[in-house]
Amino acid sequence: MLIACTHCTATNRVPDERLADDPVCGRCGEALLDGRPVELTDANFDAVVSKTELPVVVDFWAPWCGPCRSMAPQFEQAARQLKGRALLAKVNSDDNPLTAARFGIRSIPTMVMLRGGLEAKRLSGALRAPQIVGWVAH
Ligand SMILES: [Zn+2]
Repeated sequence: MLIACTHCTATNRVPDERLADDPVCGRCGEALLDGRPVELTDANFDAVVSKTELPVVVDFWAPWCGPCRSMAPQFEQAARQLKGRALLAKVNSDDNPLTAARFGIRSIPTMVMLRGGLEAKRLSGALRAPQIVGWVAH
């Protein structure tokens, strides 16, 4: 399984059975999958998403958005539950307008799930952790 590092964008090969064992990046030593949402930006989005073989679930949000803020702890909880099965990521749509525009994000929060860099599905609106996990798993 290939996993791109969000810190240095190096591609790491992680054995499938080790995905839940807190793998670290072979180049920079940062955690690859530690069960916490990662931050994606206009600068690293393509490099990470196109080189990560796990499903990537992107939460488009902004600091001024109340429903986004209330969903944040739910998204973090879902990330812990989905550790090793999906990479949960956050994109601040104010700071990363290119990525938000490319996905045509009109309302936030919106979650977009990608497989192999391509959009598989999306859902708008604030969700609780069990709903997020259920949506990702099905
Ligand atoms: Zn790295």
